[in-house]
Amino acid sequence: MNEKIWLSSPHMSGNEQAYIKEAFDTNWVAPLGPNVNGFENDLQSYLGKESHIAALASGTSALHLSLILLGVTAGDEVICQSKTFSASANPIVYQGATPVFVDSESTTWNLCPIQLEIAIKDRIAKGKKPKAIIAVHLYGMPYNVDAIHKVAKTYDIPIIEDSAESLGSHYKGQNCGTFGDLAILSFNGNKIITTSGGGALVAPTKALKDKAVFLATQARDNAPHYLHSHIGYNYRMSNIVAGIGRGQMTILDSHVAKRRANHEFYKNAFQHIDKISFLSEPEGYFSNRWLSCILLDSYDTREGLRLALEKENIESRPLWKPMHQQPVFKDAPSYLNGVSDELFEKGLCLPSGSNLSDVELNRVKTAINVYFEKC
Ligand SMILES: *Cc1c(COP(=O)(O)O)cnc(C)c1O
Repeated sequence: MNEKIWLSSPHMSGNEQAYIKEAFDTNWVAPLGPNVNGFENDLQSYLGKESHIAALASGTSALHLSLILLGVTAGDEVICQSKTFSASANPIVYQGATPVFVDSESTTWNLCPIQLEIAIKDRIAKGKKPKAIIAVHLYGMPYNVDAIHKVAKTYDIPIIEDSAESLGSHYKGQNCGTFGDLAILSFNGNKIITTSGGGALVAPTKALKDKAVFLATQARDNAPHYLHSHIGYNYRMSNIVAGIGRGQMTILDSHVAKRRANHEFYKNAFQHIDKISFLSEPEGYFSNRWLSCILLDSYDTREGLRLALEKENIESRPLWKPMHQQPVFKDAPSYLNGVSDELFEKGLCLPSGSNLSDVELNRVKTAINVYFEKC
């Protein structure tokens, strides 16, 4: 059997272990320390603008704290892009709030501004203005920032920018992760850079960052004894994990370049197959192409191809199953136009790691060509 080709696996630079060794040598084995500060500074210089970073245990915990910082509590409604990973929506429920799912547009696969406005108007008419909007740059493709933020501004609703998949992407020259009232990043094992597990909250002011860190470290008030006037969380990133992050930051740009090259490779390799299409970058959009996705002409073709690749020991995965189709969210209100359902039916993510070799890419190419020659 050929060796397994993964969808997206960790890719170390070689610099990570020096930072971890330093943490051990100086006994900074704690959820604070020089690597945490260093990693936050690295992210801040990368994102630029006025970003204040709190390094956390995960992207999910960053989303949870974002909702808390925006004052989302039990009984509130929060709008969330339906086409996303479940971690975008779960923290809404942690707060006892209700997710309201909104469909995508076909030009970015992200939040549709028209459906968004329909949803907001309807929720207001039903007596409840949504407390926040969670917008996602899925697979690294920026959402339609101008249109989405215009709608949000009209109704004065804050945006949480889920940038878990889009570190290194930009829109009209501005980095993803700097548009939202708050934004989040993820460094989970399969993301464009990884710390094995981790995330960050990106805040527009130092005061908000400090509040996030306060809540993430058990909400300890300033007193010699342990004094608490808020419910706290244990959500801070450890100094060991942050050392991996500092090493990863040294090669982020080359990871983006390689993932974009993977996407170009697939586009060239399959341009003669008219049952395969790709999502192109609209003018002004720059995607990190975290995952290379293709659309097939039907569910049957997509599922047939997935199984054919599996036989060759090549991992592929259907695009995210929309949240409005998830059993756990079956009672949530949703505003749909059919786009995310169709993407789920026909879409497939191909191996996309920044560590894929030419031999591996050519194995994927051959397997897909053979499949289409047969059918
Ligand atoms: C990975 C991911 C998250 C969650 O990040 P974790 O670090 O895994 O908790 C949230 N949203 C999206 C879109 C993601 O892909």
